[in-house]
Amino acid sequence: MSSSHGGTTAFDRLRARLDGQPHVCEACGFVDEAGEWEAATTGGTVEYRRECPSCGTETVRRHRL
Ligand SMILES: [Zn+2]
Repeated sequence: MSSSHGGTTAFDRLRARLDGQPHVCEACGFVDEAGEWEAATTGGTVEYRRECPSCGTETVRRHRL
């Protein structure tokens, strides 16, 4: 795999997609429009985490790169 579109990687695209929309907490329904995902890569997988500011529930999204 190579980046042939002006240096935009799959990683950047995923992050932009997640950051571009408000997150609704699955536990309490709180809509968090300001928070950011914390990204961490492990091998071929990127993991995004964020914590609900209302109830503290952590949401994790995993994507294969
Ligand atoms: Zn919550």
